[in-house]
Amino acid sequence: MKRVRSSRPELEGIAPYDAKQMRAEVRLAANENPHNLPGEILDKLADRVRQDMEFNRYPDPMCSYLRELIAEANGLEPGNVLVGNGGDELLLDVVLAWGGPGRSLMDLPPTFSMYGIDARMTGTHLIEIPRLSDFSIDATALLGTIADRDPDVVIVSNPNNPTGTMAPETLLIDLLNATDALVLVDEAYFEFSRQTMRPHMERHPNLVILRTFSKAFSLAGLRAGYLLANADVITELTKVRQPYSVNRFTQAAAALTFRERMVFEAGISETLRNRDRLMHAMSAMPQLEAFPSEANFVLFRIPQASAVWRDLLHDHSILVRDFSRTPGLEDCLRVTVGSCEEVERFVAAMDEITTNKQASDHFGVSATASRHMARE
Ligand code: PMP
Repeated sequence: MKRVRSSRPELEGIAPYDAKQMRAEVRLAANENPHNLPGEILDKLADRVRQDMEFNRYPDPMCSYLRELIAEANGLEPGNVLVGNGGDELLLDVVLAWGGPGRSLMDLPPTFSMYGIDARMTGTHLIEIPRLSDFSIDATALLGTIADRDPDVVIVSNPNNPTGTMAPETLLIDLLNATDALVLVDEAYFEFSRQTMRPHMERHPNLVILRTFSKAFSLAGLRAGYLLANADVITELTKVRQPYSVNRFTQAAAALTFRERMVFEAGISETLRNRDRLMHAMSAMPQLEAFPSEANFVLFRIPQASAVWRDLLHDHSILVRDFSRTPGLEDCLRVTVGSCEEVERFVAAMDEITTNKQASDHFGVSATASRHMARE
């Protein structure tokens, strides 16, 4: 017998998360920081590695030092903080502990796809409250369904990936008041929105906040994120988490980065300025609609989005994210706000693509054909 029995039936029909990583000179598909860690942090990290980093020893399971730094910065105790192997791991921990068969998770699509994937893989029933056409939250449906269906976990991405939309603070408070479900506010892009639900933690023991080192802090490649929550919630999460998920090197890099986080302020301001420039340039392109964003990315709608995505990659070596097959995001692409040069390259490429497209629409030939005509 050389066969393998089937995996759990819940996995049937789940498509693995596809990061759609591809080679490109300008990578604007994953909302990363365009710049690597600053040289002085890299130097300190290299010193740490040489001096006393024992790769032969298991790391501190609870990342105690980093946990203390994060707690202090947020006016909390270490017991209110849990560090994970990226926000992704912490999201799974939450769903493992609060979801599962017979329980339900509510999310607000279009949103970060990992919420739904985690629900499905853990046999958690997924309740979806679609956003309105401007991507704002359907408050009536949200609060009505909370009352009717009594979910166990509610996840709100704030700002929402991939739309960039903020939820009104008052609505989040109404949500917290309406349920004892675990309400996870995913603040992965908090450093750009500069808005947080942190002040509401004392009054709402069911509020959990997720943050990450992957975006503003340039550590996507090392995997570190953290949760802020009531100490009892953290205790429950420690029952399901992988004990050594955050390696020694990542802990050291994240702690150095967090201690020196003021250094990143200039980069965050640069990103916000570049986002304004990007929005301004895109608003002058009548063929597309760019949605306002509080994060380091911009979602836009453009006819034949997949063809535009291909043209950006093949002709300009620019990688953005194609969401056009996601329900509610038909004809939508998402571009990360990159460095000044990257924004310039993207804008120039879009100018060329939309101008060619206009010509091709006019002459009734395909965008690609018209571009070849234009080159000849
Ligand atoms: N939440 C949101 C809304 C995100 O966009 C991401 C990253 N794409 C994450 C969580 C997870 O980030 P990481 O695992 O890199 O910390």
